[in-house]
Amino acid sequence: MYSFEDRDEASISLRPEATASVCRAYIEHGMAQLPQPVKMYYMGPMFRRERPQKGRYRQFYQIGAEVLGGSDAPAIDAEVIEMVMTFFDRLGLTGVELDINSIGHNAPECRPLYVQKLKAELEKVKDELGADSQRRIETNPLRVLDSKLEHEQAIIATLPRIADHLCVDCAAHYAAVKRQLELRGVFFKENWRLVRGLDYYMRTTFEITAKGLGSQNAVCGGGRYDGLVELLGGPPTKGIGFAIGEDRLILSLQEIGKGAAPLGRDVYIAWMGERACAAAVRAAKNLRSAGFSVELPPTELKFGKALERADKLGSRYALILGDNEVSEGSWTLKTLADGTQQKLTEPELLEYLRKQKPVSS
Ligand code: AMP
Repeated sequence: MYSFEDRDEASISLRPEATASVCRAYIEHGMAQLPQPVKMYYMGPMFRRERPQKGRYRQFYQIGAEVLGGSDAPAIDAEVIEMVMTFFDRLGLTGVELDINSIGHNAPECRPLYVQKLKAELEKVKDELGADSQRRIETNPLRVLDSKLEHEQAIIATLPRIADHLCVDCAAHYAAVKRQLELRGVFFKENWRLVRGLDYYMRTTFEITAKGLGSQNAVCGGGRYDGLVELLGGPPTKGIGFAIGEDRLILSLQEIGKGAAPLGRDVYIAWMGERACAAAVRAAKNLRSAGFSVELPPTELKFGKALERADKLGSRYALILGDNEVSEGSWTLKTLADGTQQKLTEPELLEYLRKQKPVSS
């Protein structure tokens, strides 16, 4: 949590993530009464007091989704993962890798038993670990598995693994999630070191990494948190979700040469004259509702000037409308890439453009 006092000594806390907020909204707005599960998403800035570096900021942006209520069917876990993988695929993100794990649940015979064993093993190698890991043996032994320190890797490789200590139900759930992912054609790698720092996380955890990000290469993290709504004062409620790091997603897309979408327009309407103005407004409205991006200069411009602007804006076509064109009912459409022009009636124009692929799609 990023908390501080401002100059008036008022205490300020900034949200580090939004899952708890979504759970609170679920409780406060009585969403347990809606058909379950309830599927939600959010986007917004988050704040963490971390040491800034490439891809790690104190203010960053997340896009997240949560599925609350209903059952904890493994198909829900797999569908949530499938959705985010499909999203990355549609964006053209390359080198995407999905790691999954199960961290069991908080009943004595499951995760706590494992953590106890892990702690005992860590105590034996304590002197070989760095200061952070030594501290975590006491505060949160699972987090030692997160360590990226070179000299700790060989030690961590010898530690007991949670998959060997899951209770019967958690083991069955994990096996079913993997089957459901295979059914959906989602490739994954099992990573026994993938843990979440907070106690209310349970069973499925996952992380998605992408190329070109250096050490901070996770673009999405997610997991199941069946106890959280109850912890916040609501009814027992199943829950699973993820958060995408938007900044890192964009960095990774830029790294593979996928910059921002071009600012081009499909059609720039160059109009001159009072009657042409009315036709231009109507044409803009029709073209926009047909899905084309249109630039309509708000005041009259000489055709030369208008065509120059159309070019600068990266427009694909210029629609040239003077009073003569309007009287003749024959409009001029200029393809700016090669300078060719053609005469079209108003209905023909829409028909013609529909057959072309819009720039803005
Ligand atoms: P988490 O909420 O820790 O599971 O993080 C989910 C995702 O948010 C991560 O996979 C990152 O992509 C992104 N993220 C987390 N912390 C930061 C940060 N300090 N700066 C930029 N992105 C972050």
